[in-house]
Amino acid sequence: MVNNCAQWVPGWSDDKPVAGDLLLAFSGSNILKPGDGWLLRWGGPEMGDSRPEALALGTWNNQKLFVTTLPDTGLPGLQPVTLRDALILSPEAPVDLLSTGFQVWQWWQDHRYCGRCGERTQPHPRERARWCDRCHIPWYPRIAPCVIVVIRRDDRFLLARSSRVTRNFYSLIAGFVEPGENLEQAVVREVKEETGLDVNNIRYQSSQPWPFPHQLMVGFIADYRGGELCLQEDELADAGWFCADKHPPIPPETTIAGRLISAVKDEIASDRSDC
Ligand SMILES: [Zn+2]
Repeated sequence: MVNNCAQWVPGWSDDKPVAGDLLLAFSGSNILKPGDGWLLRWGGPEMGDSRPEALALGTWNNQKLFVTTLPDTGLPGLQPVTLRDALILSPEAPVDLLSTGFQVWQWWQDHRYCGRCGERTQPHPRERARWCDRCHIPWYPRIAPCVIVVIRRDDRFLLARSSRVTRNFYSLIAGFVEPGENLEQAVVREVKEETGLDVNNIRYQSSQPWPFPHQLMVGFIADYRGGELCLQEDELADAGWFCADKHPPIPPETTIAGRLISAVKDEIASDRSDC
């Protein structure tokens, strides 16, 4: 994947924005996008009289950068773009920045009170965390590890259509890691639960932050070991084995699912050429 974020240096401080600082603005899960990029200026005309709370995200081209929420009032020059569209469909988008900004801002808003005692939390003085003065507990941004796996069976691989989304494409088996599990155990369990199949030879391929709301997708290729397809109906509407040159629509390579499918195709082609 192209690194679209060469200019972004992630960072943390308790600075407050001043006029002219850069601003990543959300309205709900929409990015409020100016025509010529993804960032606004603090105090610029798009903000009107609004001066909301904002959180430091580091620097962009050595200029301070903040994230905030603005009301989507339909101001001229700002286009609401869903975060999902920005990450999947906009190859020019600074995906690392948008993904981090959304996750950190959500966490900041969701942890204003201590989960143990209910006291209001404060910004931690030395790191990116919120702090409960009564319990002496730091509350860090949450990250939820998820496994996603492409299952290979000789020259074919498994694609499945989710029963929960209406999109027409076929994708891969995925699920949250449970407490106490390692990643390989999560792969074996999720595949068994959703498809009835057994897998082995589980090998890491790549990972992708996925801010809906705070997953870290960890991608694997695994080999079919045995079993008959038996779909968990509330998860999967359909699944089947497909060849590299003939399969239904799949996710684009801006997603880890698309890259895993591409990787298993490469692996199959490489094994064929070695024969
Ligand atoms: Zn507390």
